[in-house]
Amino acid sequence: MRFIILALVCLWSVPALAEPLKVVASITILADMVRQVGGDDVQVTSLVGPNGDAHVFEPGPGDVAKLAGAKLLVMNGLDMEGWMTRLVQSSGYKGQVLVASRDITPLVVTRDDAHMKDPHAWQDLMKGRAYVLTIELGLIEADPAHAANYRARAAAYDKVLSDLNKWVKEQVAQVPKAKRQVITNHDAFGYFGDAYGVKFLAPRGLDSEAEPKAGELGDLIKQIRSGGIKALFLENMTETKTAEMLSREAGAVIGGTLYVDALSEPSGPAPTYEAMFRHNVPLLRDAMMQNQ
Ligand SMILES: [Zn+2]
Repeated sequence: MRFIILALVCLWSVPALAEPLKVVASITILADMVRQVGGDDVQVTSLVGPNGDAHVFEPGPGDVAKLAGAKLLVMNGLDMEGWMTRLVQSSGYKGQVLVASRDITPLVVTRDDAHMKDPHAWQDLMKGRAYVLTIELGLIEADPAHAANYRARAAAYDKVLSDLNKWVKEQVAQVPKAKRQVITNHDAFGYFGDAYGVKFLAPRGLDSEAEPKAGELGDLIKQIRSGGIKALFLENMTETKTAEMLSREAGAVIGGTLYVDALSEPSGPAPTYEAMFRHNVPLLRDAMMQNQ
């Protein structure tokens, strides 16, 4: 009898002890980073889902529900989530807000005389490592009881990203310097371009929403033709008609779909931050080889 009571007490108390920290991330890339560092100690959901476009996201009642009971909200910052302030206010969320990009130096892009911070810092793995460190510190602050677990997982994951960074450089190094040019739909690869020495051209600016202007499209077509650029890509979260038009008008070849601002579904080709690079980089390398 005593044994049965003991067993019942254990069964009753274990779930309470093992209750994971509830974390909400704005985008799937950040949710994956939280999962890598948090492991079983966290339960993560993303507001913008797989293949979702954070630039045009409109939070609904389901997003308010995701924030209920959450202890930590992880966002990118750098004006990526213009909708977040309103969502936090309307949900009454009182937990901690962690800006993953807080310790990086942002790229500033000038377009039409306006200076804007480029939010896509995760496309440089060294900046991604800084995000992971910030997330590690945020998890430790929100849940100090599991600090040792967070530190151990973050250290192991940092090694993975450091090795991945070397691998990306090796892949790009296979392409002759003069051929390292790529066309994408929106300006999401500024950090990648700076870190790995690739020039990216895009008909749209930092924000995927803004329609390309006719004059700018004409200039881009000329640039693609005169530069002999063949490497053209679709994005997993935006429309495809601009790329199809550029392919028709400028003779560039669609080299596949890049995972840009969002990961794929778990069963897709880029379900993690690491897998996103493993998918994108060989596609970029092979397409750049076709440039003249
Ligand atoms: Zn973007």
